[in-house]
Amino acid sequence: MDIQENVSLAPKTTMQIGGNALYYADLYKPEECEEAIAFAIEKEIPLILLGGGSNTIFEDGTIQALVVRVAADKIEINGNEVKIECGKNLPDLVDELAKKGLDLSVLTGIPGSLGGAIVGNAGQGPKGAWIDSYINKVNVFTEDGWEEMKKSKCHFGYRESVFKHTEKTNIIWSSTLTLPPADPETIKETIKEGLHSRMASQPFTMTAGSCFKALNGVPAWKYIDAAGLKGRQEGGVQVSEKHANFLINKDNGTYRDAVSLVQTIEGFVGEPLDVEMRFIKKNGSTEF
Ligand SMILES: Cc1cc2nc3c(=O)[nH]c(=O)nc-3n(C[C@H](O)[C@H](O)[C@H](O)COP(=O)(O)OP(=O)(O)OC[C@H]3O[C@@H](n4cnc5c(N)ncnc54)[C@H](O)[C@@H]3O)c2cc1C
Repeated sequence: MDIQENVSLAPKTTMQIGGNALYYADLYKPEECEEAIAFAIEKEIPLILLGGGSNTIFEDGTIQALVVRVAADKIEINGNEVKIECGKNLPDLVDELAKKGLDLSVLTGIPGSLGGAIVGNAGQGPKGAWIDSYINKVNVFTEDGWEEMKKSKCHFGYRESVFKHTEKTNIIWSSTLTLPPADPETIKETIKEGLHSRMASQPFTMTAGSCFKALNGVPAWKYIDAAGLKGRQEGGVQVSEKHANFLINKDNGTYRDAVSLVQTIEGFVGEPLDVEMRFIKKNGSTEF
């Protein structure tokens, strides 16, 4: 495992905010999971998993942690069962499967890695389809060793999985999905339509996607819009004019600008909105 020091994290996140990782490593082989956990224990620092960084921002300064990313991204296709390593970029996966006549088009337009998609059960809104519909099992490394977890043990829900709540570090290495077969051209057309509708409704700039979860089935943007907060800016971070649940890095935004804007939204909306984005502080803990 190649451990680097003082690695800039902003370019590894889609919102492009944050300082440096004290230590950073890309993991290419399963045995590197064990090395990563041992390194963090030896240095007495947290180990933070990062995927595509499309739902995460880091505090400015030095993050006192080992930040690792599963970089392995092989795919093995066996009929309509597909085993995929978790560093796989999700949009690439959707496109590659389409060419093979396997339909994962409900995840069109969601950036990030397969690992991040599993942890957050990525997908459409509270009433739509999520990735767990296709998952059979996931292969995870923890301090206790390797475990092949059946879907039922993952406790998937709306933007939820067991992996968000475990005390021990879980490195999800790969997952096996079963996908519905379909005509490649039809899937490609669905992907094209999905991308068009996203382009019409979402900002295509430095953002980490939805900041808050839907509340009681009502999308968070409705509450934020009703509170008159579209376009509200604190420091360099703004509530997108196009989609009120997206915070955008408008002008050299900082972590503190984003935190302050979240607190403003919470204050104005007055409903118990849950933060979906991951805000990581310098000591490795999460802000919300
Ligand atoms: C423009 C835009 C549109 C979006 N639209 C949607 C949408 O429609 N639906 C939706 O669900 N999300 C959406 N998102 C949010 C985001 O893309 C998803 O949450 C995505 O699944 C996050 O994946 P990631 O790899 O970038 O995760 P990261 O932000 O890197 O990490 C997210 C979580 O996954 C964990 N993690 C990542 N990899 C692993 C691994 N191998 N093992 C263990 N833990 C891991 C991290 O520790 C963290 O807890 C959008 C984001 C953007 C920027």
